Amino acid sequence: MILVHVDHDRGAVDAVSLQALTLARCLDSDVQAVIMGGAEFAPELGEYGASIVHVAEHPGLTDYAPQATARAIVGLINSLAPTAVLGAGTARGNEVLAHVAAMTDLPFAADCTEITLGSPVRVTRARWGGNLLEESTVITTTLFATVFAHAIPAVQSPAAGAVSAFTPELSPADLAVVIIERAGAASAGVTLAEAKVVVSGGRGMGGPESFSLLEDLAGLLGGTVGCSRVVTSAGWRPHAEQVGQTGTKIAPDLYIACGISGATQHLAGCKNSKTLIAINTDPDAPIMQIADYAIVGDVHAVLPQVIALTRAATGA
Ligand SMILES: Cc1cc2nc3c(=O)[nH]c(=O)nc-3n(C[C@H](O)[C@H](O)[C@H](O)COP(=O)(O)OP(=O)(O)OC[C@H]3O[C@@H](n4cnc5c(N)ncnc54)[C@H](O)[C@@H]3O)c2cc1C
Repeated sequence: MILVHVDHDRGAVDAVSLQALTLARCLDSDVQAVIMGGAEFAPELGEYGASIVHVAEHPGLTDYAPQATARAIVGLINSLAPTAVLGAGTARGNEVLAHVAAMTDLPFAADCTEITLGSPVRVTRARWGGNLLEESTVITTTLFATVFAHAIPAVQSPAAGAVSAFTPELSPADLAVVIIERAGAASAGVTLAEAKVVVSGGRGMGGPESFSLLEDLAGLLGGTVGCSRVVTSAGWRPHAEQVGQTGTKIAPDLYIACGISGATQHLAGCKNSKTLIAINTDPDAPIMQIADYAIVGDVHAVLPQVIALTRAATGA
């Protein structure tokens, strides 16, 4: 049996956790999920192949608490003895599984794109934001691994999704790290990780005021705004909007990169976009080489035209 840790945040299941459930099904016909609170998500997890959804119920688990989550998972490992425990290759998913590995004194393989169970276990891991693939052998009794974000699509395969509630034993030390406040978080609406359309700006936007153009276009397309690290470092936009190796890794249907050069660290976060449009004054910028559609021009001239044409086409 493979146990998959499913993360959720403010009313939504983490998309990469669903990808981890999908990969787990390729490895074992018996896949179960563990989630901190969130029994209401059990039907959804059943849709993605979880036969049982183990719901940890504890007053300290109402929001993200990495060490407490790991302690709850370790308790479940002791009673269920799964072959492997998988999670999401996100900052949170990796943090939780790293705690699980430390508590059990076993190895942990983060950001796997492929897993072959056996003795020994073989994994392929994405390193440096996916620019390098590392093949490793893991010598362990129970595999702890996370699935690299967007390495595979989440695919449904209905199973029972039966809820099995349990109360983990947590000490005050397990709850040393909890969320006490969220500052500068993205405003309400579609999140960067979930958006089907992301309109993203880089240094070439020239300043924070120009991002109103991106907000207008994103609004017309039902999407959200993203940006490069130069932009967050300059304080033009919040870090929650940063796309890339040290930001959010996304795979939207449409990514529009405006005044972004396409450094490897940025591409690590957006190269899985289904369609990529780049607007740049430099035809030789790296992003123009990988774009499906490359528009050579100044964002301040091109974007108003794109917005006007989109308004006309959508009747907005
Ligand atoms: C460890 C590490 C982690 C990193 N993580 C990330 C990350 O997660 N995300 C990330 O984005 N970066 C990351 N970076 C930074 C990355 O290396 C680049 O510095 C950054 O992505 C560049 O941002 P940019 O494309 O906005 O700026 P630039 O590279 O300066 O590019 C600006 C582009 O705008 C174009 N331009 C200029 N004026 C206009 C105009 N008027 N109209 C149209 N185009 C114009 C230029 O031709 C140029 O191509 C990381 C770096 C390191 C070392």
